[in-house]
Amino acid sequence: MSDNSYNQTEVLIVGAGPAGLAAAIQLKALRPEIEVCVIEKGAELGNHNLSGAVLEAEPLHTLLNSAVPGWQDSTEAREVLASKINKDNIMFFLGRKISFNIFFAVRLAKILRLGFGQMLHRGDYSVSISKLTKWLGQLAKELGVEVLTGFAAQDIILNKSNNMATGVRLVDQGLDREGNRQPNFAEGEVISASFVVLAEGCDGLLTEKFIEEAGLQRQSPQLYSVGVKELIKVSSEQYNKFTSGRVVHAMGYPLWTPVLGPGMFGGGIVYAGVKEHLSVGIIVGADWKYCDFNPQDALTNFKEHRFVKRFIEGGTVVEAGAKMIPEGGYYAVPRDKTGAIGKGNVLILGDSAGFVNMMKIKGLHNAIDSGIQAAKAIAETFSNPDAAAPRYTELIDKSNIAREMKSAMNFRQAIAKYGPLQGMPLSVFGKLLPKFNVEKDYKAMNTARYRLKGDKEFDKDTFTATAATEHREEQPSHLKILDTNICNTECTPIFDSPCITFCPGGVYETVQGEVRPANPSNCLHCKTCQRKCPFDNIKWTAPEGGGGPRYKRM
Ligand SMILES: Cc1cc2nc3c(=O)[nH]c(=O)nc-3n(C[C@H](O)[C@H](O)[C@H](O)COP(=O)(O)OP(=O)(O)OC[C@H]3O[C@@H](n4cnc5c(N)ncnc54)[C@H](O)[C@@H]3O)c2cc1C
Repeated sequence: MSDNSYNQTEVLIVGAGPAGLAAAIQLKALRPEIEVCVIEKGAELGNHNLSGAVLEAEPLHTLLNSAVPGWQDSTEAREVLASKINKDNIMFFLGRKISFNIFFAVRLAKILRLGFGQMLHRGDYSVSISKLTKWLGQLAKELGVEVLTGFAAQDIILNKSNNMATGVRLVDQGLDREGNRQPNFAEGEVISASFVVLAEGCDGLLTEKFIEEAGLQRQSPQLYSVGVKELIKVSSEQYNKFTSGRVVHAMGYPLWTPVLGPGMFGGGIVYAGVKEHLSVGIIVGADWKYCDFNPQDALTNFKEHRFVKRFIEGGTVVEAGAKMIPEGGYYAVPRDKTGAIGKGNVLILGDSAGFVNMMKIKGLHNAIDSGIQAAKAIAETFSNPDAAAPRYTELIDKSNIAREMKSAMNFRQAIAKYGPLQGMPLSVFGKLLPKFNVEKDYKAMNTARYRLKGDKEFDKDTFTATAATEHREEQPSHLKILDTNICNTECTPIFDSPCITFCPGGVYETVQGEVRPANPSNCLHCKTCQRKCPFDNIKWTAPEGGGGPRYKRM
């Protein structure tokens, strides 16, 4: 960067996830002389990255083969890619006890070239995304990229006359709870850049502002799911029984069951991690209707299922967390009126663009691939930044990302429209289906109750403690209820304040008769509240850099 300061650079990447770091690494490999800076709101690399995470490694191999010769021989590579998948179960859970392995049906789908065939993962890797991100960040630094952690961006700065970005503004530091300036106050610095790459992950703060301000459109609203996950240390007997290199994907109970319901999209996962550790999680479409539903209750039910329980009973949760996934697929990718995924010198990558293949709930490979394509586009258009987003889009359209997104283009919408039982079989018709009109997730909520809710409340305090989340307490709440009147007169009387239940961090509470984000320090940055408040009445903003969860092994 210029003058040894961080307030001006040539390419500014917001978000040090797989997408942003892949872009940085690829760009340095193509054009080492270009200044590249990545800013990340987490205190350390990997802190805010949570995933399953089954990694389809081809884009990672492509990236590292071109940028880091001999990368396979490093200790980090051997550690991050230690677990190759050799056993792949796809299960259907019927009630708490019964399970069927439906691997053969998915195998058949693959032979018949049906979309469901994509759900097979033998030969892929089961990784920790936190460790993957840390490693990629280290490689980026070694190539000369400036990687700044604890730097949260709050705004993208646009030149209104041409919608070109001139940079981003960081979050103010040193305000008290009421928003008054403290002696250590520092106004959010502006970082100027010739290119701004938005790689903030799902529901990006700057990305959504940019989409609105620059007039980008989605053909269909973005849909989300909420993933909650625990890393559990089990006994060596249990781990050996599960076997290393094995991944299990389960559909059905406790999210949907034939006839009796409930009827939510999603499923559970059990992945073998490093020795004696299993990742257990549940991913549920945020268009659930039950006002008393909490994804953590579903996780509890999933862990109690006979198939899962025997592998984890008596184990210790060593890390936990929650995050959203963009599910809308092809139709929900934001584009400007020329079709560009971004505009001018602003490029939108990875989960911020919505490049998750919902047929298999996998986005890591596409995030990395989008980083590669963004870097190529910037390298080619360096002297003409205005052409970057159109060129990036051309490259994306020729890439595997476009092929995958098109193959799953109606999948999630069919389920949103008809529910899992009818929607899943219908989605087999793929591209032959018309584009279904679907509503934003929050509109789905009604007064129905989750039939499988347990008697005991989920222990959110322990959950957030294992996520190790914290923020400086003396700062304004970064979670804003836009109109408290709506909470008092509509949401609480009709739905009984669902944010109190569904927020995985237990941020919301009733205080003196009013619902408030009483514990913003517990926030896991999953942004579920912003997308699931039934009155669209909560706004997530970025807290001071360095706050939030501290995932190490997720
Ligand atoms: C429970 C769960 C399970 C999943 N399982 C799988 C799986 O098995 N396989 C798979 O391929 N995919 C899986 N995914 C999806 C996968 O995790 C994502 O597709 C992938 O992480 C996207 O990478 P990204 O770089 O776009 O975003 P992210 O990984 O989210 O990284 C974005 C980064 O940007 C930072 N950031 C955001 N806003 C700002 C800001 N304003 N200022 C500064 N920094 C900012 C964030 O802190 C974060 O570090 C799963 C997701 C979840 C939630």
